[in-house]
Amino acid sequence: MLEKKRCGFVALIGRPNVGKSSLMNELVGQKISIVASKVQTTRHRVLGIRTDEAKLRQALFLDLPGLIPPKDALGKACYQTALSGAKEADCLLYVLDASTEPAEFEEQVASLLAPLRLEKPLFVVLNKIDKLIDPASALKKYACLLEPLHCPSPMLVSAESKAGLGLLLESVLENLPEGELLFDPEEITDRPIRFLVSEYIREAAINLTSDELPHAVGVMIVEYRLPLEAGKPIYIRADLLAETESQKGILIGKGAAKIKRIGQLARAEIEKLTGEKVFLELKVKVKDKWRMRDSSLREMGYKSDKAEP
Ligand code: GDP
Repeated sequence: MLEKKRCGFVALIGRPNVGKSSLMNELVGQKISIVASKVQTTRHRVLGIRTDEAKLRQALFLDLPGLIPPKDALGKACYQTALSGAKEADCLLYVLDASTEPAEFEEQVASLLAPLRLEKPLFVVLNKIDKLIDPASALKKYACLLEPLHCPSPMLVSAESKAGLGLLLESVLENLPEGELLFDPEEITDRPIRFLVSEYIREAAINLTSDELPHAVGVMIVEYRLPLEAGKPIYIRADLLAETESQKGILIGKGAAKIKRIGQLARAEIEKLTGEKVFLELKVKVKDKWRMRDSSLREMGYKSDKAEP
């Protein structure tokens, strides 16, 4: 019997830091979305593509910004992106951290998702089970959330140890709507390489700076030049945008040690992605209150939603 072609958008939703980016990267099989141990690092709507060529099924994963109460312009943009992404998707993954206790906020999100559950498949994904001695205990902890969502069997997974990911992927693929594949099977994201490059730089900066610099850093690619001769590196010039002089100081570090390290880390990731040698030049600039201004957000691509389903 001929298999039915399936293709659809899958939104990963949940609080920041529960592991949505890590899960998406694992499900896609490539680093598409940046992973950082600090909250609110996913600002963009990133599309990660996973194609099962054998059965002609394609999942288009949307890693949405974490759901948090919106405060400033950036927070508001993140919140709207997450909500509209959930509404437009064909399938929802509500991601929770199995190693923590559910709070009132989780219940609020669950009630927000309950009406959507009637329209499309929703999987409750309990991530980080590698941190639990008894993974099944998470089921009991989260039972109160599962009831309103009519979700009898949550998926116990770990993006870290990869436990449960095969079953999760298969369940998602099988629940996608019937339809033609929207992307070539070899494509892994709809974003240009330049975008991934700026995200890798931002990830390195966030991971290497202390809590003094939460999500205040932006990245602007100033120049991206492919080599004219074989064997020569790709030349990339980028600005790291801080909000204040003191943040600029943190990013540069003593004797420029920090910025050097950020460059090394980011370069290694970019070389992995492109398979080419990379020359990366980073400069730190102060862009006062850039987070508050819509124009700056747009300038850096935070408001252009290319991944519109
Ligand atoms: P997001 O904000 O929901 O996208 O979360 P991230 O994917 O950025 O992950 C937040 C943090 O949790 C990072 O430090 C990850 O390495 C970590 N993390 C993600 N998944 C797992 C997991 O399954 N187990 C463990 N132990 N840590 C995880």
